[in-house]
Amino acid sequence: MASSARSHESAFSLRIQKTASLTIPLNPNCPACGLNVVAGCLESFYSYKLFGCSSCGLRFWDPRAMPDAKKTTRMFAARNARLLPLEPGHRFFLKDPNAPRTVSLLDVGCGTGNFLIAAWNAGYAVTGAELDPEAARFASHLCGEACVFPLSLENVVERYPGLRFDVVTFFEVLEHQADPSHFLSCVVSVLRPGGFIALSVPNRARWLTGVDPIDYPPNHFLRWDLSSLRGFLESRGFEILSLREQPAGIAYTAQMLNIALRSGISRAFVPDLPPSFRDEIQETATNMPSVPAASSLRLRIIRILARAKFAVCFPLALLAMPYVRWKGHKGAYLYCLARRKDP
Ligand SMILES: [Zn+2]
Repeated sequence: MASSARSHESAFSLRIQKTASLTIPLNPNCPACGLNVVAGCLESFYSYKLFGCSSCGLRFWDPRAMPDAKKTTRMFAARNARLLPLEPGHRFFLKDPNAPRTVSLLDVGCGTGNFLIAAWNAGYAVTGAELDPEAARFASHLCGEACVFPLSLENVVERYPGLRFDVVTFFEVLEHQADPSHFLSCVVSVLRPGGFIALSVPNRARWLTGVDPIDYPPNHFLRWDLSSLRGFLESRGFEILSLREQPAGIAYTAQMLNIALRSGISRAFVPDLPPSFRDEIQETATNMPSVPAASSLRLRIIRILARAKFAVCFPLALLAMPYVRWKGHKGAYLYCLARRKDP
């Protein structure tokens, strides 16, 4: 474990920096609409500042420099050696009555290939692109006839200029982009005329009872809601066919209750508790721990108690569901299907 990582104080205490250590323009241009209509800094985190665009509604961090493949591998090491369950965005697309079927599909950020397998089984001719070489290797072994490029979308466009697909999907990818306009232009480059895109992003309007540790730079740079996502896609020639916010379900409600019941006792009693993800990813790829820190007895006990506490939140969530539905609380996912309007 890097000593500098250990020097971080409580992982859940918001790090407010009084002054920015990097040179940031007072009013950076919005990376979605390009306008300079940004009012004030909404939040600071390490050397990053969060801004809101008063024209298109996007919230974005500045500065934005995406992690390279090496750091991405270290950030998501635990996810690179197993097949994850499908995410809600994947299921929304596979059930979407407006989506085309049995056509060619490129999944950008395919990870270890869970959606590639599901789309293949649904009749699509699938191809994946994954920046993380270890995840791409896992996916290509697992997905059989699927082709998986161990490349960013930008590199796929550069190396295979004639490649075109009927559908390009990018689930939980757009929020990571330093330059969403350039990313979408790369998507258009590999899309047939009149082609479809399907995506999901974390919904900024989701119900939160505390800090979401993964929603911080350099992991996520952009925070989208219904309005900013619609405006961004329509302004670039897409017709929105489906746009839906996932309602808060039982599992999400349990998660929010678990966050609301954070006491800070764990960190007080277990000094070797690993830093939270959002603090850990501030490290360089070399310094980031690739395996969990050695477990002390106290650490193991705290982890068992944490799992027990989370389990208790499920019956509580069941009891809370009528109130959650009445309030109209939103869950984590914002899903969209759109079609390119070609001239
Ligand atoms: Zn904007």
